[in-house]
Amino acid sequence: MTTQAVEIPPGAPLTVLSEEEQMFQQSVRDFAIEKIRPLVPQMDRDATMSKDLIAAFFDLGIMGIEVPDRWGGAGSTFFNAVLVVEELSHVDASCGVLVDVQNTLVNNALLRWGNEDQKSKYLSLLAKDTVGAYALSEAGSGSDAFALATRAEEKGDHWVLNGRKLWITNAAEAEIFVVFANANPDAGYKGITAFIIERDFPGFNVGKKEDKTGIRASSTCELILEDCRVPRENVLGEIGKGYKIAIETLNEGRIGIGAQMIGIARGALEHAIAYTKERHQFGQRVADFQGVKFQISQAATELEAARLMVYNAARLKDAHKPFLREAAMAKLFSSQVCEQVTSLAVQLFGGNGYTKEYPVEKFWRDSKVGQIYEGTSNMQLDTIAKTILTERL
Ligand SMILES: Cc1cc2nc3c(=O)[nH]c(=O)nc-3n(C[C@H](O)[C@H](O)[C@H](O)COP(=O)(O)OP(=O)(O)OC[C@H]3O[C@@H](n4cnc5c(N)ncnc54)[C@H](O)[C@@H]3O)c2cc1C
Repeated sequence: MTTQAVEIPPGAPLTVLSEEEQMFQQSVRDFAIEKIRPLVPQMDRDATMSKDLIAAFFDLGIMGIEVPDRWGGAGSTFFNAVLVVEELSHVDASCGVLVDVQNTLVNNALLRWGNEDQKSKYLSLLAKDTVGAYALSEAGSGSDAFALATRAEEKGDHWVLNGRKLWITNAAEAEIFVVFANANPDAGYKGITAFIIERDFPGFNVGKKEDKTGIRASSTCELILEDCRVPRENVLGEIGKGYKIAIETLNEGRIGIGAQMIGIARGALEHAIAYTKERHQFGQRVADFQGVKFQISQAATELEAARLMVYNAARLKDAHKPFLREAAMAKLFSSQVCEQVTSLAVQLFGGNGYTKEYPVEKFWRDSKVGQIYEGTSNMQLDTIAKTILTERL
């Protein structure tokens, strides 16, 4: 999908979308409802992403949203990536995160730090038919991300990497991996360096896949690097500047997680509204009890607040304005709202909500991860506190 960018008028409300944004939103919404929804229960049961769906994501042009059209991408905005992740997640959060990681972490890292050769080689593949993954976390290095133990050693015209990565989204499907390793442990975090690794590089293997509570169709695997040989030209950005790449990509990435969270919450709430309008107790629709109406109104209000925060952070990013605190707040709040709203949806389905016959328990399971990955809620609070205590409120 290559579209003409249309300006939104200055001062327009946050939820007013340009023609291009509406097109992206509508096409992905239709696709999610028609093509993804029928596959969701099976993919969740099997913990497997449909290969046909991945191919369809590429056909739809949503795997290279910000990639310029000279490399086969849609040449569009970060905001559109956010809309796409929201729309996918309102039907299936696993599809949402697959597309999110591709766009907001992998493509983003290459777009910002790749040289011309790297962009031409890898972004062309990532926009066309190749899934990417982003590997920072390790068993001993989660919130303390820069304590990573994976090492990179320079050996003539190549680097040799040794270590293990854990929790890597998309690893089962990916062919291209952005991997962080320390090339100079004596320099602490200033030794961290990013590398572009192809799946068939010698010494690189994808290990165990996690059996997860939610987003089960999204693969999460270990990576094993044993004397993994990486050509010198595959260093991404400068040696020792990987920490900057990691911080800055994740600052943007967490807006995408916020989008995933508002999508999940919306999906669950839509199901709950439909169900309570059908279900009768005490001779009337459940939706007509004042107690239930108020619960639904409260959930819709919190969802609207979360959406405004996510959209605002994304618009700030596209406008090249500071967005660090707004992104952290958006992810923190939207993931909290998502857990509450999906829990309410289960509650409003009564006993049916607690079974796999109905869709809401999956939304509830899918919601929790938003408070864990791309920085736990405590780490978001830490970021927010730093900016509040040192800058402005
Ligand atoms: C499904 C899934 C997919 C993932 N995908 C990826 C991926 O694609 N790439 C990748 O690199 N990583 C990925 N991750 C890893 C994820 O980013 C980490 O799990 C996350 O950063 C938390 O790290 P941890 O699990 O080691 O928890 P820990 O850091 O051990 O945290 C445990 C608890 O301690 C709290 N805590 C830790 N430090 C502090 C502190 N200073 N102050 C207050 N509280 C603190 C945390 O908030 C948390 O509640 C994924 C994780 C999951 C579950």
